[in-house]
Amino acid sequence: MAKVPLVYHPEYSPEIPAGHRFPMEKFRLLAEFLRAEGVLTDANLFTPEAATQEDIALAHCADYVRDFRHGELSAKHMRQIGLPWSEGVCTRTFRAVGGTLLTARLALKYGLVAHLAGGTHHAHYDHGSGFCVFNDLAVAARVLVRGGEASRVLIIDCDVHQGDGTARILTDDPDIFTCSFHCRQNFPYRKAHSDFDIELDRGSDGRAYMQTMEHWLPYIFDLTQPDFVLYDAGVDVHDDDVLGHLHLKDADIAERDEYVIRQCLERGVPVACVIGGGYDKDRKRLAARHGVMHGVANRLYQEYAL
Ligand SMILES: [Zn+2]
Repeated sequence: MAKVPLVYHPEYSPEIPAGHRFPMEKFRLLAEFLRAEGVLTDANLFTPEAATQEDIALAHCADYVRDFRHGELSAKHMRQIGLPWSEGVCTRTFRAVGGTLLTARLALKYGLVAHLAGGTHHAHYDHGSGFCVFNDLAVAARVLVRGGEASRVLIIDCDVHQGDGTARILTDDPDIFTCSFHCRQNFPYRKAHSDFDIELDRGSDGRAYMQTMEHWLPYIFDLTQPDFVLYDAGVDVHDDDVLGHLHLKDADIAERDEYVIRQCLERGVPVACVIGGGYDKDRKRLAARHGVMHGVANRLYQEYAL
C-alpha cells in the first residue's frame, strides 16, 4: 500500500553551537525515527529545492530577505530570531521554505502530504522572531493563490504559540484565512489578530483542547470554504514541552492531528502538514513526538486510499 508522501532534506539540521536552546538536530532525528517506524522509505521521500528569493519576497521585504541571505542582518535582528547566522543555517532556511512549498504542491496532487520541518509562524514581513526567519506558511499560501493553484487557503495553526507573523503578513489577503489555536499565556505576549484566534488557558488538557477544537473547527471550515489547507501540527502543546503551558499527552496530539486531517479529507480539501514547534531536552523523545503526525497522516492516507 502506498505511503503518505513526505518531504525532507538532510540540510535541515546544520551544526549550531552545542547547547544552543533551539533543538536543530530534531529534523534529522525525526527522519531517523520515521525510517525506523517504516513510515519514511526511499519510495515516499521527496527532496525539495531551496525556495527562491522571489518566492520568499511574496511574503517578506526584499531587503530583509537579501540581508539575511548575505549574513548582513544587524545583531539586534539576529537576537530577535534567536539563531546564529552561518552558511549552514542560511541554506537550511531557504531549503525548509522550499520544503513547505513542495509539500503544498504535492498535496494538490496527492491530497495529503507531510513535511519534516516548517511552521515558522513568528516570522514577520521585515524581521524574524522566535527561531523563525521566513514565514513558510505565508509564502506557500501566497504562491498557491497568486499562481492560481488554490483560490481559498485556510491555515490551521495548532502550535501552542500564536501564529502572529502569519496573521500580520496575511491580514489583508481576502482569500487566505488564518486560524490559530494557542495558549493565551504563551509567547507572543502582545497577540496579533488572526482571522480566527481560539485561545486556551494555561493548564488545559487534551479533553478541554478537543472540546474547543470540535466546537470551532467545523464552523471555521463552513465559514471559509477553503479549497486548500496548511496545517501546523506543533507539538509544544505537550505536557512535557519546556515552553508550552498546555498539558496534552501523546495520545491527545494523535487525536488532534487525526481530527484536523479528517476534517480536510471528509470535505475533499487537500492538506499540507508541517511540524511546527516542539521543545524537549530529550531530543529523541521530541523527534518521536513530532512523528506522531506523520504516523497519523500515513494511516489516514491509506484509509482514504489517496
Ligand atoms: Zn511554538
